[in-house]
Amino acid sequence: MQQDCIFCKIAKKEVPVQPVYEDEQIIAFPDINPAAPVHVLVIPKKHIANLLEITPEDRALAGHIMTVIPQVAARLGVAEDGFRVVINTKDNGGQTVHHLHCHILGGRFMTWPPG
Ligand code: IMP
Repeated sequence: MQQDCIFCKIAKKEVPVQPVYEDEQIIAFPDINPAAPVHVLVIPKKHIANLLEITPEDRALAGHIMTVIPQVAARLGVAEDGFRVVINTKDNGGQTVHHLHCHILGGRFMTWPPG
């Protein structure tokens, strides 16, 4: 756990959220400022600052997140029409919370390229 990390606090239940999925390693919860009709964040409970900080010891965790994302998308009802997964990384990637998270965005057509 990293002090002053909002997502660590969510993982530790110090900040309440309404999880849409949770297990020992991962929690998924609605984004507080949704950018689409469905906007959920999937985070590892372990503090990893960003994609660049993933190490070989995180391989199973990273794979687990990738298998949970489609389950969460199905649970949210966006699997049939499709959805977008985004991992913003550092400043140019638009990362504002420095705890690894995957955005699941759905419920509308997504344009490309992103802004
Ligand atoms: P980033 O810009 O990729 O780092 O995304 C961080 C996301 O976290 C933003 O979409 C925020 O709206 C969201 N966020 C920040 N604090 C909270 C919170 O306390 N609960 C849920 N979502 C949050």
